[in-house]
Amino acid sequence: MIDFSLTDEQKALKEMAKEFAEKEMRPNAAKYDRGEEFPYDIIQKAFEVGFMSSEIPEEYGGGGLSHVDTAILCEELAWGCAGMYTTIMANALAVTPIILFGTEEQKKKYLTPFTKEMKLASFCLTEREVGSDAGAVKTRAVKKGDEYIINGAKCFITNGGVADLYIVFASTEPEKRARGMSAFIVPRETEGLTIGKIEDKMGHRASNTAEIFFDDVKVPAENLLGKEGIGFIIAMKTFEGSRPPVGAGGVGVARAALEYAVDYSRTRQQFGKLIGMFQNLAFNVAQMATEIEAARFLVWNAAWMLDRGLPIGKSSAMAKMYGSDVAMKVTSQALEIFGGYGYMKDYPMEKLMRDAKLLQIYEGTNDIQRLIISREVIGRLK
Ligand SMILES: Cc1cc2nc3c(=O)[nH]c(=O)nc-3n(C[C@H](O)[C@H](O)[C@H](O)COP(=O)(O)OP(=O)(O)OC[C@H]3O[C@@H](n4cnc5c(N)ncnc54)[C@H](O)[C@@H]3O)c2cc1C
Repeated sequence: MIDFSLTDEQKALKEMAKEFAEKEMRPNAAKYDRGEEFPYDIIQKAFEVGFMSSEIPEEYGGGGLSHVDTAILCEELAWGCAGMYTTIMANALAVTPIILFGTEEQKKKYLTPFTKEMKLASFCLTEREVGSDAGAVKTRAVKKGDEYIINGAKCFITNGGVADLYIVFASTEPEKRARGMSAFIVPRETEGLTIGKIEDKMGHRASNTAEIFFDDVKVPAENLLGKEGIGFIIAMKTFEGSRPPVGAGGVGVARAALEYAVDYSRTRQQFGKLIGMFQNLAFNVAQMATEIEAARFLVWNAAWMLDRGLPIGKSSAMAKMYGSDVAMKVTSQALEIFGGYGYMKDYPMEKLMRDAKLLQIYEGTNDIQRLIISREVIGRLK
């Protein structure tokens, strides 16, 4: 009934991703983290091995990875560098609305270029005053003739300053709130689209996070995704698929932290003993290892359900929430195993802890995941 074994293709994918993470990401992670510099060279290499278009269906030239495949890939990439992982996965987040809701013409026109050369995309939902309450976006899209005119501003947009394509959520009927929201495909070169502040972040510093302004941005009506008023559904369906990969990222970050801590505990001596021989430390390691495995299985279960088209809201939220909470807890405890050295930038631990934090915040804070889960478990009380 249950089979946890990976197929030969999945084993090969995991191996390839691990090798990429080990050879390309890890050795450069500290450099890009310190400089908060965008790692074009590594992202170009990620494109060449197919990671930048891995979720695009094969018929448009992409990798056509399943959700379980994606979970396997994400764990390895986040193990290598969470900032670079976020850059790579932001592409998947942004193209998913086209994959799920695009017309055949939109898919051919906008997905195929991502499989031919290295291109970046952004998913533009959040605004300065609109975060968790995503249905309340203030960016407006007004139809005039056969085009829409978009005005407004988005913030905290991953890949925002470096993207070639933007998926923009804007209100076409503000009085209807979430039901009046629509989604548009906006190419970078569109007049009136400008980049604002590039954020100086605590973690994931290799990723680019920007503010985007839309000042009378005109897009043809054919750039509307689906139909008017389903923007909120498009965003939520996209998140249902993108949250397990965030959980998988958490598993990767936590695994990296635990591995470093275990290695350290095998060499560091205090009181004439290896610190790995102290029971409190060993028991903490046991707890961390258990929680990492539990998180991985929640992620794989959610991904498996997604691949079968099963109702996924609760399981997707659980995978994201638990995977990122485990990352936060494990990175903090693993850092403590390093004692004072864990706090120093010469060691990888403090970066892992900073990186873990974001996983609890983006793609819906973990409070919002708890809201989704509790509503399904308890039901909506009146
Ligand atoms: C580095 C980074 C990259 C990001 N990338 C993107 C991106 O590519 N595209 C994009 O659109 N957005 C992106 N975001 C935005 C991110 O998704 C939001 O920051 C997040 O959804 C929270 O919104 P907020 O920051 O406005 O917080 P708020 O919504 O103001 O929340 C503040 C606090 O209130 C809590 N809260 C809010 N509502 C409730 C509620 N109903 N019940 C209980 N608690 C609640 C929250 O959990 C949080 O603790 C990114 C954010 C960051 C930091």
